[in-house]
Amino acid sequence: MPTPLEIKGQLASEGFAAGPIWLAQDRLVPSYERKDTWQAEAQALADCVATASGQTAELVENAQGDAADILEFQLAMLEDDTFVEAATELIEAGLGADMAWREVLDDEIAGYEASDDEYFRARAADLRDVKDRVLVALTGAAVEIIPKGSIYLADDIAPSLFLSHDWSGGGLALRDGSVTGHVAMLARQRGIPTLVGLGDFVCPENVSALLHGGLQTLIVSPSEQIRQQFDLARMEFDAARLRAQNFSDRPAVTDDGTAISVMVNIADPAEVENIPIQHVDGVGLMRTEFLFGHASGLPGEEIQYLAYKKVLDWSRGKPVTIRTVDAGGDKPIRGFTEDEMNPFLGMRGIRLTLKNPDIFRLQIRALLRAGVHGQLKVMLPMVAVPEELDETIKQFEVEASALAQEGVAYQMPKIGIMVEIPSVAILPNRFSKASFLSIGSNDLTQYVLAASRDNGKLADLAKADDPAVLALIANVAHYGAKHGVDVSLCGDAGSDVSIIPKLLQAGVTTLSVAASRIGLVKSTIADIDLGSDRKSRLFDEAHADFSHKLGVLHSDNKK
Ligand code: PEP
Ligand code: MG
Repeated sequence: MPTPLEIKGQLASEGFAAGPIWLAQDRLVPSYERKDTWQAEAQALADCVATASGQTAELVENAQGDAADILEFQLAMLEDDTFVEAATELIEAGLGADMAWREVLDDEIAGYEASDDEYFRARAADLRDVKDRVLVALTGAAVEIIPKGSIYLADDIAPSLFLSHDWSGGGLALRDGSVTGHVAMLARQRGIPTLVGLGDFVCPENVSALLHGGLQTLIVSPSEQIRQQFDLARMEFDAARLRAQNFSDRPAVTDDGTAISVMVNIADPAEVENIPIQHVDGVGLMRTEFLFGHASGLPGEEIQYLAYKKVLDWSRGKPVTIRTVDAGGDKPIRGFTEDEMNPFLGMRGIRLTLKNPDIFRLQIRALLRAGVHGQLKVMLPMVAVPEELDETIKQFEVEASALAQEGVAYQMPKIGIMVEIPSVAILPNRFSKASFLSIGSNDLTQYVLAASRDNGKLADLAKADDPAVLALIANVAHYGAKHGVDVSLCGDAGSDVSIIPKLLQAGVTTLSVAASRIGLVKSTIADIDLGSDRKSRLFDEAHADFSHKLGVLHSDNKK
């Protein structure tokens, strides 16, 4: 009996899988046959790039949401002549088509990999995918067929290979990879158990293994005892998932009868096609960065208008909160964001849009026009001071009168702000012009604890249930309850079953969560007993503390 091997990684997508290990194959057999002339080499490359484009276009047609976004980026890269032209120059200088393509793409990939930015590093995987597709076409190498139900062990995996395989019953164990990478995001959306960052270790092919999402561990050659514990944990996980499914279409109510609104976070408008409207109380956050991140450039007014209208049409009169573009920080956008030493504390969110009135203007017009199709609320990201809200409201008024003069139908939406910078969470009363507040626990946590949200090594520090973060959340909830201002929470903490009870105790009554978590969030809420007095100790303490310390400022501001 081989000794069990347990390797701890990071959880990119929860779940459990048991099956044989499938070691990633070296897909590319170097069997390229040189042609007689450089012109024939160049033609072979052009043909294979066209073949790869056709295959990618086919995948795009069947993809949705983020998957489509990733594949569209790859397609744009394949259709951009720059790489082929550079490779043709090398071919003319004497290289074979395969070597020339490799050299050009490797150069580009190295540039992306060297980026300080997680977003661009993630794009390097897409370029590797693009490179491999063309090489597969050139060499005639077979694309890897992964047996169903196995645990795929690799350094990383190309998004297109991930998307073309049926992972049901299996899982992914990646030595590298990152929880914020594309494959991790796709795995979460599809519910495929995935561990990343497992590091280097020796593992034979076909040996039986367990991927234990709860322990974030890959167990190779498990003992009978470990297998039994695994089965038990998996049964509990499956039962919780099943129970959650039964809650999806029910209103969210705590055990003591307190109604909680559960809304959904979306990015791509196409996502709503898979969300029954009766499962949610509306959209609490539509991130619009998705529309701005395309390789084809920044979106015009019409594209944005149609995207917003699609979601409003789907919402059947329930509120839809669309956030103005939150570029910068962890979401750089080519041609829009700036290169900075410290992008998280730099020109991002509302600061960036106010600085780029020509870009912002198109989004404001699209939002004003879309407003006639439902209950639109517009939310501003990364607001730090009231002047940013004042200035934006002014811009909306200017564009509204321009539309009126043009005779174009529009509706002024409610305008509210994200609470994700401590300055707002500490003194929300300064932002009395905001129609609503939505707590962005992801950024709020990183700013309160000075711990970057995209650094896995700081995961134990950057916790949204840190008492200091919870006290600020309670302060905002208290402000909203006292002044009749809607407060919701749309950061990832709202989807975290271990944090939800603390959020509710802090006074939060509206959560906006990932679509895949709706049932689980509602079933978690059903188990919470807030007691006869919803104001928990935490809620009272936070309020008393802030009111006392900041009383002077509060009253000054009311004058
Ligand atoms: C947040 O910061 O919590 C949030 C919801 O915004 P994003 O994650 O898009 O920065
Ligand atoms: Mg944020």
